[in-house]
Amino acid sequence: MPPAPDAHTDVLVVGAGAAGLYAALRAARDGARVTVISATPLAETASYWAQGGVAAALAVDDSAAAHLADTERAGRGLVRRSAADVLCREAPDAVSDLESLGVVFDADRHGRLVLGLEGGHTHRRVVHAGGSATGRRLVRQLSAKLVAHPAVTVMEPTRASAVWTSEGRCVGAVTEDGQAVAARATILACGGSAALWSRTTNPPGSVGVGAQLAYAAGADLADLEFVQFHPTAVAGIPGREGFLVTEAIRGEGALLLDGRGERFVKELAPRDEVALAVWRTMKEEGTDHVLLDMREVDPGGFPNVVGALRESGLDPATTPIPVSPACHYTMGGVACDLHGATSVPGLYVVGETACTGLHGANRLASNSLAECIVFGGRAARAALDAPALPGSLDPAPAGSAVIPPSRETREALWRHAGLERDAEGLHALRDDPHPLARAIGAAALSREESRGAHRRLDHPELDPTLDAVHTVVGPLEGSAPPPAHHERWDG
Ligand SMILES: Cc1cc2nc3c(=O)[nH]c(=O)nc-3n(C[C@H](O)[C@H](O)[C@H](O)COP(=O)(O)OP(=O)(O)OC[C@H]3O[C@@H](n4cnc5c(N)ncnc54)[C@H](O)[C@@H]3O)c2cc1C
Repeated sequence: MPPAPDAHTDVLVVGAGAAGLYAALRAARDGARVTVISATPLAETASYWAQGGVAAALAVDDSAAAHLADTERAGRGLVRRSAADVLCREAPDAVSDLESLGVVFDADRHGRLVLGLEGGHTHRRVVHAGGSATGRRLVRQLSAKLVAHPAVTVMEPTRASAVWTSEGRCVGAVTEDGQAVAARATILACGGSAALWSRTTNPPGSVGVGAQLAYAAGADLADLEFVQFHPTAVAGIPGREGFLVTEAIRGEGALLLDGRGERFVKELAPRDEVALAVWRTMKEEGTDHVLLDMREVDPGGFPNVVGALRESGLDPATTPIPVSPACHYTMGGVACDLHGATSVPGLYVVGETACTGLHGANRLASNSLAECIVFGGRAARAALDAPALPGSLDPAPAGSAVIPPSRETREALWRHAGLERDAEGLHALRDDPHPLARAIGAAALSREESRGAHRRLDHPELDPTLDAVHTVVGPLEGSAPPPAHHERWDG
């Protein structure tokens, strides 16, 4: 007889960034008993670090259709329209729900929400809180609501080490300290993988934990080759390496300047174009940064960015800031449907762990916090419908499915799967000791074209026959390089 689980719950949520907090809260508000496992304090989540805001078509001259068109344009022929349509239609209600939960977005003196403009958006549609302190205000408020909810148990600091499956179905998860939590539905909300790359804007925990947990449990991964590089991360300043200077600052007039002090790109072009222009300017000039001139921008609008820069001895009111691209966001992740369901029954994914296909090859700025809320809510509702657990379960797994990346793996990803890449480097990545790095190498190698946020030097053109075609890496088979295949998802 296998040992009994240490805890039983209806819905188990792993991760307490915006996606996990909102999914947990939604499930609890809808009547479920919820357990949340969270590895790190709030301040170490990507959500807490988010500066720009939440995209939602709220202006009178804006519409979900316009938001969808911008999302599709940014996603370069690869956006799964059904998913993006859900996001754009449901984002305004998500913002209202956040307000009803006590999140206070910045408003003008008439009480109307102030809408920011970011790259790739044709309308002002980004709601923010405390200027550029959106993420921290959002997760602090959601977390306060969550811990006050009587149906919620929070296990923190606790790390999930494996997904627990029984007869092909997910039945919970196991923690690093050996506790087995049984649940009708398990939602992984462990963030993305951008910190697998050595130069990153993300907190150190963003190393694809959700992807590793789900992959080891037999779930498919998708679109791993698509990684977004933020063009303006602080460069060469000890203690602030990779610190992100939000795009919203360019929305308010900050300029990008080369070594001669001249502009070389339209600052509000889509992120991939700006990042590549910065990268190529650096290569041409043989430097490790360009300059972001925000002297004309009101520092009062971005107090936490300006404060952090000043703490590092940089005064953006008087001096341009050295910046260069850094790995920022992973469009790919665990393949799932429009309710976060993965290929493993009972296992759901939300937030940056998930790949619904909504971002295509390149995410539109500020669509990800909106995704955390919209799809967090949808996954929670789907989880509530999961059937009861069977009377007896297979033993919970021993050992960890999560492998921390070595410095060598992180440097190999930056070198071989960066803004510019080729088959030779990607082949090398396929032999990396880290399973996720191998999967990324396999996915990137199989896509013989240039699309979205990176360029294949050996395949510089976009291949239109690959529009709407997603790269899927099937479940791990021993230690062999994982197979990558292509699937056409609805356009
Ligand atoms: C600097 C920065 C600025 C950004 N600005 C914006 C913006 O303005 N607008 C926007 O839309 N997006 C922005 N993004 C992207 C956005 O913040 C993220 O995509 C989003 O917050 C991801 O949320 P999440 O809930 O999926 O993951 P996270 O917020 O990263 O949370 C992950 C959670 O998983 C937990 N976890 C990890 N491993 C385990 C484990 N083994 N066991 C238990 N728990 C675990 C962590 O402790 C954490 O609680 C920004 C990102 C960064 C880095």
